[in-house]
Amino acid sequence: MMSLRLPSIDGLLRHPACLPLAERHGRESLLAGLRQLLDELRSAVLSGQLSAVEISPEVLAGRVGERLARQQRSNVRRVFNLTGTVLHTNLGRALLPDEAIEAVHMAARYPLNLEFDLASGKRGDRDDLIEGLIRELTGAEAVTVVNNNAAAVLLTLNSLGARKEGIISRGELIEIGGAFRIPDIMARAGVRLHEVGTTNRTHARDYEAAISPRSGLIMRVHASNYSIEGFTARVPTAELAELAHRHGLPLLEDLGSGSLLDLTRWGLPAEPTVRQALLDGADIVTFSGDKLLGGPQAGLIVGRKELIAKIKKNPLKRALRVDKLTLAALEAVLGLYRDPDRLAERLPSLRLLTRPQADIFAQASRLQPALADVLGETWNVSAVHALGMIGSGSQPVARLPSAALCLRPQVSKRLRGRCLLTLETALRALPIPVLGRIDDDALWLDLRQLDDEPAWLAQLPHLQVDS
Ligand SMILES: *Cc1c(COP(=O)(O)O)cnc(C)c1O
Repeated sequence: MMSLRLPSIDGLLRHPACLPLAERHGRESLLAGLRQLLDELRSAVLSGQLSAVEISPEVLAGRVGERLARQQRSNVRRVFNLTGTVLHTNLGRALLPDEAIEAVHMAARYPLNLEFDLASGKRGDRDDLIEGLIRELTGAEAVTVVNNNAAAVLLTLNSLGARKEGIISRGELIEIGGAFRIPDIMARAGVRLHEVGTTNRTHARDYEAAISPRSGLIMRVHASNYSIEGFTARVPTAELAELAHRHGLPLLEDLGSGSLLDLTRWGLPAEPTVRQALLDGADIVTFSGDKLLGGPQAGLIVGRKELIAKIKKNPLKRALRVDKLTLAALEAVLGLYRDPDRLAERLPSLRLLTRPQADIFAQASRLQPALADVLGETWNVSAVHALGMIGSGSQPVARLPSAALCLRPQVSKRLRGRCLLTLETALRALPIPVLGRIDDDALWLDLRQLDDEPAWLAQLPHLQVDS
């Protein structure tokens, strides 16, 4: 067996090649890194995987330096979302406007009146910070805010329907993402599911027939991530509310994304507004903060005062409440809605959703030569029209006319799949990872969300595709 000659730890720590590392990462981290590396080298030699007899301190310092740098890089990383899905749940959904970022900064840095009423000098309620604004924007009597919309649904069901039956149409027993399924949430909330109607058609008489002394509430869920078309029937909210109230039951409406304003004024597909659901008679409406609203992750519960009071008294509320950073961001975002005329320029998600296709196409044409140049002969790069989507369950069948860089490998059909995966991996390995989508034997980079063109171009030379 070969023997390995390694410098001593003490010697290494004093070696000029290691001194800058101690300065940058601290002596403790350097020591731990060196120990780990030397142990690994010794085991590799013992097991016969490595036959080197001497490794210089400079080489060791280089390797430890790389490791420490990798460790120091944060796990939370900025990426370029060029997938074509604007509100991408896996990529953090809505981007906050500057006003909200400043508010978060202030809330993080200084003490604040989170639960303190500055007028009376007494203890306050954190919901009070945004209640006035939400009431103004939705017409609701009262408001409470929790961690996300899933929490809003869970808390509302548990507060208003525990140990009773929740009546819901079979067509609305949906699953959103892996873990959130309406029947499971109902069960966890202690509400017994009473499903009525069929997948495609549910009538008022189906609800009516289900009502008994065991009933606690009627629930309606916005079927956000799929659509039922063809021979369908659904009871309008106004009619369902009238029916619920005639039997003394509350009507809950989970809008999912929901919207505070009619999006058609910006040429976007119509999405039910919170105000309309309340006007139609829903007693409680729940919706997300970081979907179409364009704010931080949060779940908003709005509606009748006495029901909100009941929800706020539930001990689960404490477990699901939002933190001060979220509230600060939410207030700032909601404030922008007071001036709808300027909303599309100030709220990033709305600005991106309404970006004209011609503008995106011009950007694609502008960037095409640079990318074609970097990718070389193997790839055909073209600026093309494409279709994106809103994402996060809003308008699943609606498509946003967009534009993309379409990258097609110029290789035999057999090699195309592997070629595409290699490029996809290389794009992900860039300093700011670039995420696109593979479809129809090509890699598509939808540019709707490419704001920071200089940063994107600057890192192109780092792209390493071994073809
Ligand atoms: C997205 C969605 C939820 C979950 O909202 P989160 O804010 O992601 O927790 C619940 N219900 C519906 C209908 C949804 O679309």
